[in-house]
Amino acid sequence: MSDLPQIVIHQKKVDAIQRFHPWIFSGAIKRQDAGITEGAMVEVYSEAGQFLALGYFLSGSIAVKILSFQPVTALRQLIFDRLRAAYTLRETLGLTQSSITNCYRLVNSEGDQLPGLILDWYNGTIVLQAHAIGIYQQREVIVAGLAAIYGDKLQAVYDKSATTLGKKSSLQTTDGYLYGGRAEPRVIEYGHAFIVDWEAGQKTGFFLDQRENRRQLAQFVGDKKVLNTFSYSGGFSVYAIAAGARCVHSVDSSAKAIAELEANLQLNPAPKSQHQSFTQDVFSFFRTCSSDYDVIVLDPPAFAKSLSARHQAMQAYKRLNLQAITKLKPGGILFTFSCSQVVGVEHFTGAVTAAAIAAGRQTRILHQLTQPADHPTSIYHPEGRYLKGLVLAVE
Ligand code: SAH
Repeated sequence: MSDLPQIVIHQKKVDAIQRFHPWIFSGAIKRQDAGITEGAMVEVYSEAGQFLALGYFLSGSIAVKILSFQPVTALRQLIFDRLRAAYTLRETLGLTQSSITNCYRLVNSEGDQLPGLILDWYNGTIVLQAHAIGIYQQREVIVAGLAAIYGDKLQAVYDKSATTLGKKSSLQTTDGYLYGGRAEPRVIEYGHAFIVDWEAGQKTGFFLDQRENRRQLAQFVGDKKVLNTFSYSGGFSVYAIAAGARCVHSVDSSAKAIAELEANLQLNPAPKSQHQSFTQDVFSFFRTCSSDYDVIVLDPPAFAKSLSARHQAMQAYKRLNLQAITKLKPGGILFTFSCSQVVGVEHFTGAVTAAAIAAGRQTRILHQLTQPADHPTSIYHPEGRYLKGLVLAVE
């Protein structure tokens, strides 16, 4: 697409692009055409004039996010192809035809070569969350591509980008339907029913990234006393109850989340379990709760949103994990997570190790958890692997 503005990068930065890293930092730019604005599609060349990439321009320290490492003749077709490839992967994973799960992540940003774009499928409704103007400006093409893939099965596309684009951009957007209108908000995940409030809930409405980890929890909870902290709409609680937990306590500071959790419990009959909800700050809950839990789930929101906040976040992970470990019975199980992108596995494991040391409890790692296959990441882009978890046995 030779009519696009061009950016030329320093020769020593060419390697990283040829190794398929999907971001170009502003320091790599040698020169650029005048007047390139946030969100504009650009072509990237080496000093020798070799085509390197097509992507969109950003005004921050990441200057370009790459959509293609090959020359592109038609952007619309490229986006259609990317969406089709994303769908084919979910088909391969058995998610598009499953009789027990009808919600999944269709597009996971860089992991599906559509940087800045999240598309979550909720039984006929797709929630679109754009994190950058460059991809947001392609929303009509994206909707057309989705309609072509899903046909009649696609009932609605809901744009929920106002907060994610928010402060970053001059573009003021309002959330709303780009296609269709409000449809059935009920989904099933491994046979468990959930109401997903994509309009007013957190993120796209449901934390699809914990699907496999919720299933893993089910193996540990039979006849046990379980504490699910940062429960949101009750994902882990519903699985624990279905798997025969004796008693489940769910804690979240959001009254709305707890109300959704209660509604989700109603959808999933559970004769054997006792359940109690606490609309409370988790740190304060831990100060007064009993110390006889068999299993505890810790799934806090991202404590660090930037590298500069990492140190403080590590302290918070340590404190939280220490509190949890002290509330476990001997032989108890801890499911502990971090979804902070800037906190890597090593850092997270370090914080949890520090907590175990401070608690003075012998602790073993049973499983290392991560995000599921419908949240794929490029091997060249470790920054995309944001979800880390450990299943620990605490003596
Ligand atoms: N485990 C959930 C997702 C957790 S999202 C699932 O599987 O669906 C994080 C949740 O933590 C949000 O619901 C948010 O309301 C809650 N939260 C954030 N800070 C909190 C705090 N200090 N105490 C209690 N809940 C908190």
